[in-house]
Amino acid sequence: MNKPVGVENPEICKVCGGKCCKTYPGLATPEDFGAPDIEKLRENIFKALSSGRWTVDWVNQDEGLYFVRPAVKGFEGSVFDHRYSGECTFLTPNGCELAFENRPESCRMLVPKIDERCDPQGYTRAVVSQRWKEYYEILMDVAIEVESVSF
Ligand code: SF4
Ligand code: SF4
Repeated sequence: MNKPVGVENPEICKVCGGKCCKTYPGLATPEDFGAPDIEKLRENIFKALSSGRWTVDWVNQDEGLYFVRPAVKGFEGSVFDHRYSGECTFLTPNGCELAFENRPESCRMLVPKIDERCDPQGYTRAVVSQRWKEYYEILMDVAIEVESVSF
């Protein structure tokens, strides 16, 4: 699957001030980190988790339903994190510090609309964690490797 581009609407988001980003970070997909190229995926997840600005979260550990997202502000540096709310580490007073193409897929695909009726286009934790399922072993391998280096 190619990396979907999405639509930006800075006029609407500027007025809103990033309410979505203040509630919970956007969800990233395996393609955001280079999938289906396994080597790229491994390398990019390693870099992201090592930076402390990205974390591994989950929907159901027994079913291997994990996903990657930016860290919540104030909680950077955890390889695994399961908090359900909080402001994204990448939100600044001037908007997202990441270039549009480097933002998580769910951030790029969210369609901004006035009166906070923004359309998430189906990017729920459940849906995104299913996308990660086929890369579960790589994700766990890398996360454990990063944890072992940082402790
Ligand atoms: S996508 Fe919606 S909630 Fe998020 S900053 Fe833009 S207008 Fe606000
Ligand atoms: S990565 Fe950027 S656009 Fe996405 S939630 Fe964080 S601040 Fe918002």
